[in-house]
Amino acid sequence: MTKFNIPATFIGRPYAEKHFTQIVQHAFAHNPFYQHFFASSSAIPLLTREILQEHNDELLNGHPVSGKTSGSTSIPVRIHWAQPRSALDNRDSTNYAEWFGGRLPHMKIVALTAHKAAENTLEVATKVPEQLQFIRRQVTENGVRSLISYPTNLEQLAQYLLQSGEQIIELQRIVCMSELFEPSQEVVIRQAFPNAQIAATYSSTEVGMIAGRCPHFPENYHIMAHKLGLEFLNAEGNPCSEGEVGQVVITDYTNRKMPLIRYAIGDLAAPITCPCGKTPLPALTQLLGKQRGILKHPNGGNVFSTQLSAEIRDTPGIRQFQVIQLASTHIQLRLIARPNAVIADAEHEIRALFERVFGQAMQLEFDWCHEIPRLPGGKYMEFIGLS
Ligand SMILES: [Zn+2]
Repeated sequence: MTKFNIPATFIGRPYAEKHFTQIVQHAFAHNPFYQHFFASSSAIPLLTREILQEHNDELLNGHPVSGKTSGSTSIPVRIHWAQPRSALDNRDSTNYAEWFGGRLPHMKIVALTAHKAAENTLEVATKVPEQLQFIRRQVTENGVRSLISYPTNLEQLAQYLLQSGEQIIELQRIVCMSELFEPSQEVVIRQAFPNAQIAATYSSTEVGMIAGRCPHFPENYHIMAHKLGLEFLNAEGNPCSEGEVGQVVITDYTNRKMPLIRYAIGDLAAPITCPCGKTPLPALTQLLGKQRGILKHPNGGNVFSTQLSAEIRDTPGIRQFQVIQLASTHIQLRLIARPNAVIADAEHEIRALFERVFGQAMQLEFDWCHEIPRLPGGKYMEFIGLS
C-alpha cells in the first residue's frame, strides 16, 4: 500500500486529513493485522466488530489488555491503551466539566467491577433506599453537589423519590454515563432532582469519550474531534447528509499501540451543526445506541428502542424491564412488577404496543422476575437484539 484513498468525510478538513493519514501509515508500518488488511486495495476498509473480534490478538500485537467491553451475548473486545492514551481521556472528562462551569465535588454510583472503590463511590447494585442514604450523607457531610451514574439507575432513584413525594434539591449536576440516555428518562430525573443540570457522555471502552452533550442544545453531542475522526455512513456507505442517521465509524488518531481505524462501533447517529456557537467542535444527534440493541422487525427492517421504551416505562405495573429478541419472530420480556401491579393488564398493554410496532407475527414471552442483572461492566441493557 503506497497510496490510499482518504475517506470522503476527511477530505477538505486539514486536521482530520493529516491525523487520519498518519495513523494509517503508522498502522501499516507497525501492526501485522493492518499489513494484511490494507494490502489488497487503496480503499481503507471498515473494521467491523466481527473482524475486530476475529483478529483481536493480531491487533493487540503483543501489548497487554488494559480494557474489555462487556458484551451481553457477544465475545468481549479486548483493548490496549498506553498510559498517555488514558491520560488524554481523563483530560477530556475534566474539560467536559468545564462546559458546565467547572468541576463540582462529586460522588459516583457505578459498578465496582469497572471503577475503583473510594469513599465517594457506591456500588450500583446497592438497593435504592441505601443509595439515597448515601447521596444524602455525601451532600450534607461532604458538600457533594454532583452525581455520576448510569441513566437506568438514575431513573430508578428518581422514580423512588417521586413515589415517596420527595426531591433532592441540593444536587447541581447529574452526569449520565455508559448507556444510551433517553428523553423519557430525563423527564423523571429532572422532576426528582429539579436543580441539577444534566450532562451526558457518549463513550466506549474501545475509544473512550466520543462526545459530550451540549449544555445549550441538549439534543446535540459535541464530538471529541481532537482525538477521534467520526464518519456517519448511510446504507450505501456514503457520508450522511446533515441530520441523516447512519452508522458511526470511528478512527482513533492517538492509539498507536493498538490502532482502531474506520471502526464500525455498532451505533447509529446523525451528523449535525450545533447552533450553540460556544464550541467549534462538530456534533452528532439522534444517537440510537448499540446496533446490537436494535430489534429486527419480522419483515427485516429495524425497530429502534426509542419506538418502544417510553411506552413500556409508562405502562402501569412495570417497574423495570428488559426486551430480548431471541429470533426474528420471538421476543422475551423480562419484567419486574410494581407492588399491587395487575399483571394481566400490564401484559395486555404490552401486547398491544408490540403488535402495533411489530405486527402479529411476533411471539411474546413474559418472564416476571425479581431482579434483572447488569452486565459485568455495570451497563444495563434494556434492549438486547439478535447478535
Ligand atoms: Zn452545542
